[in-house]
Amino acid sequence: MKCDLHVHSCLSPCADLTMVPNEVVKYSPDILAICDHNSGENVLSFLKVFENHSKILIPGIEIQTIEDVHILGYFDKIENLLKVSKIIYEHLPKISYDPEKFGYQLKVDQNDKFISLETTPLGFPTDLSIKEVTEIILKYSGIPVYAHISRKFGVLYQLGIFPDLNIHIAEVTNKEEYLIAKNNKFISISSSDAHFLNQIGKRYSIIKDKVKNAKEFLSFLIRGKVKTIWDS
Ligand SMILES: [Zn+2]
Ligand SMILES: [Zn+2]
Repeated sequence: MKCDLHVHSCLSPCADLTMVPNEVVKYSPDILAICDHNSGENVLSFLKVFENHSKILIPGIEIQTIEDVHILGYFDKIENLLKVSKIIYEHLPKISYDPEKFGYQLKVDQNDKFISLETTPLGFPTDLSIKEVTEIILKYSGIPVYAHISRKFGVLYQLGIFPDLNIHIAEVTNKEEYLIAKNNKFISISSSDAHFLNQIGKRYSIIKDKVKNAKEFLSFLIRGKVKTIWDS
């Protein structure tokens, strides 16, 4: 089964407005994670649509730390994602949000109807450290992952090292990053970080075992059973 574990919805200020549930599902491989910037508020609408299409949706989030590092969090239960999302909102800057300047952040229902404009500015760093973000994700039974390690907002790009934390999975985008992650004893995954429909699944990971739901998938993920194309 193919999986793309890093896709943005129309709630992310930098994502295309066509990133709505019934469009994303058409382009989606068997398994997909929605990971919006600092929010899990659109995931429930995607869950409903993915269920109807017999595809697996992993509730996710991409949190920006005070060090400007992006950390992905994956959850088996939407309730836990929403609790984490609520905490993250409290740690975002309290500035007035101008959609024309920062990008539109749209909440959508399961029929792709825009229901509201999110006014918490999601495209900013929280005031939480990588350590604090990791602890919050783990507290709610989530799996923390270093996003795009060598790109801007990736841990190696921002800090030059992997801090000694309870994170065991790294998202890589090429063979060179895969080897760096491997040498540092990380499990590697690869995902598209799609902001547009035609980017979905352009990078992906593979799982040989057939899985039935998010919980089962995540248990395989932490055991290193999800592979990149560079794993032999
Ligand atoms: Zn990112
Ligand atoms: Zn992203």
